[in-house]
Amino acid sequence: MIAFVETLCEKGYGYETDDGIYFDISAFDGYGKLSRCNLDDALAGARVAVNTQKRHPADFALWKKAEKNHIMQWQSPWGMGYPGWHIECSTMSKKFLGDRFDIHTGGVDHIPIHHENEIAQSEALEGHKVVNVWMHGEFMLVDGGKMSKSLGNVYTVDDLIARGYSPLAFRYFCLNTHYRNKLNFTFDGLNGAATAYNRLRGIISACSTAPKADDDTQSRVEKQKAAVVDAVYDDLNFPLALGEMWTMAKLPACREIYDAAVELDKILGLELYEPLPADDNDRSTVPDDVKAIAEKRFVARQNKDWATSDALRAELDALGYTVLDSKTGYELKKK
Ligand SMILES: [Zn+2]
Repeated sequence: MIAFVETLCEKGYGYETDDGIYFDISAFDGYGKLSRCNLDDALAGARVAVNTQKRHPADFALWKKAEKNHIMQWQSPWGMGYPGWHIECSTMSKKFLGDRFDIHTGGVDHIPIHHENEIAQSEALEGHKVVNVWMHGEFMLVDGGKMSKSLGNVYTVDDLIARGYSPLAFRYFCLNTHYRNKLNFTFDGLNGAATAYNRLRGIISACSTAPKADDDTQSRVEKQKAAVVDAVYDDLNFPLALGEMWTMAKLPACREIYDAAVELDKILGLELYEPLPADDNDRSTVPDDVKAIAEKRFVARQNKDWATSDALRAELDALGYTVLDSKTGYELKKK
């Protein structure tokens, strides 16, 4: 990272101030091309300039000089200090992928600053285009809004597992939204995805013992297999790929469907060829009315409404289910 910054300075893209080394965005032709913003936009977006020695308010730090008590301290030609926010990505990709590589991914929130700055640094250093294609994933929402700790709507995969969902059903849910679109997480949506996932997996895994297909079915399976791969090649269109899996699953049951699913799983990672576990605690086997009561009780507990929570526990008890609470959720067990 130090060598990277030194070279940028030698080439006239970096300059020193009292608190660090900065990248001179005005010296880089094409700053803002990824997010299609110009220097004036960058100016409007820049935070109030604390460092008046900066040539342009949107110039960003390549290297920061560390104050005595700062947690990060490394020897550098500019005294003790630490790297800027963006330089590590440019340096790592150069080291491990070289000065040209095909695909750089990230979240959409990285487009305007982080990736813009990576491009500026890397292209200024190399003197040519470094990344051929930028791909950015959209945000995930919860119940149509932002996921945030203060709203109490942050869930981890472990939370979903504790509530009886299979992580593969969650993956199936995620793959049903294209990466360029916002993914709206709701428990209704997840329940629907879990039901669909279990049905698809049930059909396909049952094909392991099915007879070999006739010629016609065999060629239709081959066609569907190619259609799944084509969908993925087309800008990772997984929603379409899953649709093509469904079309395959509706063909006459045959061993070829099972074999195709095993091979396609290298792309899908859904284990559709595995038989469903015969587990009483599997969420999919819990009747909807029981699930609904358990959900109501979970909400009551979150609201510290213990009376309602106890009454709903008694209802579940009467229906033959025990509920085990954990920090982040609950588990339903058939008695
Ligand atoms: Zn990065």
